Amino acid sequence: MATTAKQKIKASNGNSIDSSLDFNSGWSYSPAPESTDHIEIKDQYELFINGKFVKPAKGKYFPTINPANEKRLSMVAEATKEDVDKAVKAARNAYNNVWSKMPARERGKYIYRIARIMQERAREFAVIETLDGGKTIREARDVDVPLAAAHFFYYAGWADKLEYAFPGKSPHPLGVAGQIIPWNFPLLMAAWKIAPALACGNTVVLKSAETTPLTSLKLAEVIQEAGLPDGVVNIITGAGATGAEIVNHPDINKVAFTGSTAVGKIIQNAIAGTDKKATLELGGKAANIVLDDAPLDQAVEGIINGIYFNQGHVCCAGSRLFIQEDVADIVVRKLKDRMESLIVGDPMDKNTDIGAINSKEQLGVINKYIKIGKGEGAEFYQSSCSLPNGKGFWCKPTLFLNVSQSHRIAQEEIFGPVLAVQTFRTVEEVIEKANNTPYGLSAGVWTDKGAKIFNMTNKLRAGVIWANTYNKFDPASPFGGYKESGFGREGGLHGLAAYLHV
Ligand code: NAP
Ligand code: MG
Repeated sequence: MATTAKQKIKASNGNSIDSSLDFNSGWSYSPAPESTDHIEIKDQYELFINGKFVKPAKGKYFPTINPANEKRLSMVAEATKEDVDKAVKAARNAYNNVWSKMPARERGKYIYRIARIMQERAREFAVIETLDGGKTIREARDVDVPLAAAHFFYYAGWADKLEYAFPGKSPHPLGVAGQIIPWNFPLLMAAWKIAPALACGNTVVLKSAETTPLTSLKLAEVIQEAGLPDGVVNIITGAGATGAEIVNHPDINKVAFTGSTAVGKIIQNAIAGTDKKATLELGGKAANIVLDDAPLDQAVEGIINGIYFNQGHVCCAGSRLFIQEDVADIVVRKLKDRMESLIVGDPMDKNTDIGAINSKEQLGVINKYIKIGKGEGAEFYQSSCSLPNGKGFWCKPTLFLNVSQSHRIAQEEIFGPVLAVQTFRTVEEVIEKANNTPYGLSAGVWTDKGAKIFNMTNKLRAGVIWANTYNKFDPASPFGGYKESGFGREGGLHGLAAYLHV
């Protein structure tokens, strides 16, 4: 536990001020909140269908809140069957009459325009992402928004080069894509879905998650500003029932879904026997593996980045840590020290490392697993950091040591800042343990030896494997899972293939 003490420090005006000094981290920071002056959030948002913002058929709206203070940010339209039908019809019409007929290089120009406007409005997007979802402004600003723009740039470049992407083939679009995204990377997931679909000549009906609709509605404004023909992109809001209406609509040619394995299975059942194509990007329980020859300080940073940043709300989070036995004590000590220096608090503060948990429901899930872990007999450890008082949903960075393979906290996705630590002796043993999960989305390997990296990456059953780094993304690299983590790839050339008949 960190020892903290109050010290009186003389301020420049001569007054003495209280400052909390933390002997472990050695630092305390003055607040550095990002400003909200430059953004506009409307009191109410409509559905973006056929190039216009329109009222929902049933006239129903739901609130979206800021999970850091539980205050309502806006009321958002709830799309029902009639609205979904209207959106699909608009997309079909745009597909038949405009988008599939347009020269590919013209399509590319529109996608570039979206990318550029998004870059111009990057600060606005970052702030709204943080307010609506609870992630830190640092992450929204440095990861979500730049990567989302990069995705549009990347796929804009492919729009008129599809025949080079698939030489000797005659690729053509699928038609109307129904796209459903989760709340952990709202804008980025919208970009992952919309950019390749448009580049390949498809039109889109996208639904954002109930708790984080605002940046996708801002994206709708960008799409309007970029002058995309009406109906090419339709963005609707609602909860799970709205998503199901999209999946079940008979005139959808493709379902692209990112979310939980449970809903992925429902979708797979729903489209069985139809000719709808699907890509499902589902849950994960990644193994982050530290060998005894690894650069340990770098590995500890990677572990922290892999599970604690973004509150562990990452499908590919390194939620299982495997440490080789002879360095286990030192890695755990370094990890605990580093955890002590993490700041949990106001997501809008640029110093904050861990923001707010996305929703009350998700905090409930995380706390349920913490209870389960304790009940299973794993050794529990949390940093001694303080949590904001009063409102909001918060969780301290949490470790479970002496976890065994059969523990639920080692098998099930928690989707929060909770790390399950196990040790191993040999490479064969850790590969077997790492693969012993229903998931297969991602993994990490930390070692000094290239040969070990190649050996392990060939044997780990995971779609993405990072070596001596973690959670690094690039639009040119395909991303996706094995087993219950889903099928199909997003990003890169593979991501184009998912939106084409090749
Ligand atoms: P979720 O409950 O499966 O929701 C995902 C999306 O599906 C949301 O828009 C949701 O609507 C909608 N939905 C819910 N029920 C539906 C149904 N019956 N039919 C159609 N759509 C439905 O997942 P989540 O809790 O939001 O997101 C976390 C999960 O996403 C985690 O398991 C995580 O691993 C996974 N994820 C995977 C990836 C990847 O690339 N593999 C990336 C990010 C996240 P509402 O939210 O509005 O209810
Ligand atoms: Mg919200």
